[in-house]
Amino acid sequence: MHKDLQEILIPTAELDAGVKKLGERISKDYAGRCVTLVGVLKGCTLFLADLARSISLDVRLDFMMLSSYSGEHSTGVVRILLDLKESIEDCDVLIVEDIVDSGLTMEYMLQNLKTRRPRSLEICTLLDKPSRRKANVPIKYTGFTIADKFVVGYGLDYNGIYRNLPYVGVLNASAIEGKKICR
Ligand code: 5GP
Repeated sequence: MHKDLQEILIPTAELDAGVKKLGERISKDYAGRCVTLVGVLKGCTLFLADLARSISLDVRLDFMMLSSYSGEHSTGVVRILLDLKESIEDCDVLIVEDIVDSGLTMEYMLQNLKTRRPRSLEICTLLDKPSRRKANVPIKYTGFTIADKFVVGYGLDYNGIYRNLPYVGVLNASAIEGKKICR
């Protein structure tokens, strides 16, 4: 385990099994269709790479980058930093997110993407933290529901670090206070 963590919440084997299950469900639900996976950067990267490989259908990948977080805390204001490259009109779109916390980011994504007239629009999140929900967003696919803890790893960061950990873990207090820099 990385020395900055206090515990591993979801070990690699559980992540692998959970992501595989999601891929199988999605493959069944969208059978005969092509799915456009819209990854929310940067947290979606590891999850999206594994999820896409466990979907046995044709998929397209596109990305958005939004900002609402600074360090540990949500600012509540969502901005688009990077938009989709392709049109999603008449497409079956599945938003792929690392974690839904307050739900404000997803609420914004849904509203924004709906205006582009996709055939269908659903949410797939690796992690769901329902205890802090402020916006009621309909999540179709959830990998794991977790308690109100700030987690890192498997795409999730703290100040840009820890995304490459192959598991999801909880940072210890000294790592949060110390705010390590990677240069
Ligand atoms: P929301 O808008 O739902 O509050 O937040 C969504 C975004 O906040 C996620 O995409 C993620 O980047 C960030 N976030 C929320 N909770 C956590 C967490 O526990 N750990 C990390 N690393 N990021 C989080």
